[in-house]
Amino acid sequence: APLRRAAYRLSVTQAGQLPADDGAEVAIAGRSNVGKSSTINTLTERRTLARVSRTPGRTQAINVFDLDPGQRLVDLPGYGYAKVPEALRRSWGPLLEQYLRQRGSLRGLILVMDIRHPYGPHDADLMAFAAGCGRPVHILLNKADKLSRGAAIREMTRLRRIPELQGMAMQLFSAQSGLGLDELHHRVANWLEP
Ligand code: GDP
Repeated sequence: APLRRAAYRLSVTQAGQLPADDGAEVAIAGRSNVGKSSTINTLTERRTLARVSRTPGRTQAINVFDLDPGQRLVDLPGYGYAKVPEALRRSWGPLLEQYLRQRGSLRGLILVMDIRHPYGPHDADLMAFAAGCGRPVHILLNKADKLSRGAAIREMTRLRRIPELQGMAMQLFSAQSGLGLDELHHRVANWLEP
């Protein structure tokens, strides 16, 4: 699996510092603590990668990982940190927006949510913006292991009825147990195809 060849490349705080906009990349986003780092770990089977994403100062950066030649995984800044000053929070917005609006090689966005409190205002904003830019969004309802199978399915069904989420790709996931990993692998491989 190509994702296993993931290697950290760089962290950027300005769009101009990103690698050349060629090939194909998949981005991953989520509110802090939903398990974005754990998802990167599970997806790449590389425990050290997510550590990069959690290094202080890099949680507000765009972290780029190389996969196969010409393929990248892009870890977008976490959002919704209660303790981050408003001024700093405001500064990620433009970076994220510029990235989502302009990045030619971006094939799709994986949006990680915690199934126990999914689709908060920040998630809704990001999703609406990404969709408005014509970006395919794939929603992971992470930590599904914390609910019974029945409760997890009920929650997914409820979310699918929300008008803004209708027709969105959405799946149960657990970065911890590996539930839903095949489905995610499939989606990512599909997006990265030349
Ligand atoms: P991030 O801030 O979004 O990068 O979140 P982390 O990956 O650091 O995870 C936040 C917390 O949630 C950690 O304590 C993880 O161990 C836990 N966590 C992440 N994914 C899962 C999951 O699928 N199931 C369970 N039970 N816990 C998880």
